[in-house]
Amino acid sequence: MTRLALPAVDSACGLPREPLLEAARRFGSPLYVYDLDVIAARFAMLRDSFAGRFRVSFAVKANPNPAVLAGLARCGADFDASSLAEIKGALQAGADPSRISFTGPAKREAEIAAAVTLRIGTMVLESSAQAETANRFAERAGIIQSAVIRINPNHVPRGFGARMNGKASQFGIDEDCVNEAMARIAALPHLSLDGFHIYSGSGCLDETALNENFDNAIRLFKAFGSSLKKPIRKLIFGAGFGIPYYPDQQALRLGGIAEQAVPMIDALRATPGFAEAECSLELGRWLSGPAGWLLTSVVAAKSAGETEIRMCDAGFNTHLAACGMMGSILRKAWRMSNLSNPGGGKTNYTLVGPLCTSIDQLGRDVPLTELRIGDVIAIENSGAYGLTASPTRFISHPEPREAAFVNGGTIDVTVIR
Ligand SMILES: *Cc1c(COP(=O)(O)O)cnc(C)c1O
Repeated sequence: MTRLALPAVDSACGLPREPLLEAARRFGSPLYVYDLDVIAARFAMLRDSFAGRFRVSFAVKANPNPAVLAGLARCGADFDASSLAEIKGALQAGADPSRISFTGPAKREAEIAAAVTLRIGTMVLESSAQAETANRFAERAGIIQSAVIRINPNHVPRGFGARMNGKASQFGIDEDCVNEAMARIAALPHLSLDGFHIYSGSGCLDETALNENFDNAIRLFKAFGSSLKKPIRKLIFGAGFGIPYYPDQQALRLGGIAEQAVPMIDALRATPGFAEAECSLELGRWLSGPAGWLLTSVVAAKSAGETEIRMCDAGFNTHLAACGMMGSILRKAWRMSNLSNPGGGKTNYTLVGPLCTSIDQLGRDVPLTELRIGDVIAIENSGAYGLTASPTRFISHPEPREAAFVNGGTIDVTVIR
């Protein structure tokens, strides 16, 4: 890890153009940059908007960079891990094991065993079979493992970008089967069934749909919690909060969501058996996405009739999601700008990556200020599902580096592998 002095980052004014350019000059491109101060500010905003009703749990898969995880651990975040390596990453970042949950539909025995041995706080059970395995290893370790059942709800509101539930799905225990599974799981002596988990989907920018989702989760938590006949201690709400990837999208207004969600939570807590229920918002992209940029440089230019093509050093090998290839229906260019040339009129560019396939495209008809060879483009919202969600080995270009702005003026450079 290298630390270097850089010009101060003013997180309040949006794009930190000068520090980003300086980072690209020093470390080359393609380069992912994360602003840890922005992540901390968003964490505080989330907690405060819901008046402390929720703990905040970061889905490690959104960004497992050690500096990002350490920054979130300092904020007091919980962590949701989906593999043993993610559990270890959270621990190395300073997370308390009791604040880590473990989700995943295909947890292997060895992973469950290790998670129990590492004393993670919450095993998220996606099946009765996982419960039996966790029970067995908890017995061996001589502990009672806290667990929650992941419910696969029958109904998911419209407006969720990536729907994870509501149809035949590998995730969780189907709503109609929960009662039966719950009876079996509750009888396992080395598990303590402490609550429930629902993560219906993601990328939602529609307040009405988000509130409908809260409402639906609370209804299910209440119904199943009441038949469990013991105090409910943990309820995990997969938040599904989206971020505006495209220029025509608006950011969520947390205040508008909280206005409805806070009274719903208060009413739930007033229900017998739910007074001690700790509620968590589990999310990834909303927290870290807007705090990250992918910097890519223009390597070559070509005019093809009316079309201005610019070849960049980042393509889907570096940022699969920004190329519209990670679960999005639309292939539409993300918010981006030419850092090297902030003024002047805009031209529509076709931006492509370095890969030898025609599907390697960052965007078509992207309006940007004049793009010269060597100019640096910043792709916004790249702090989640960036580097580790991309097939970086394809065509064997070098692994991009990652840098983090901290304390508004120094840079930590960390290389994941
Ligand atoms: C991926 C995932 C999340 C985070 O989703 P975002 O869209 O990044 O907020 C939360 N919970 C679970 C179980 C997940 O798999």
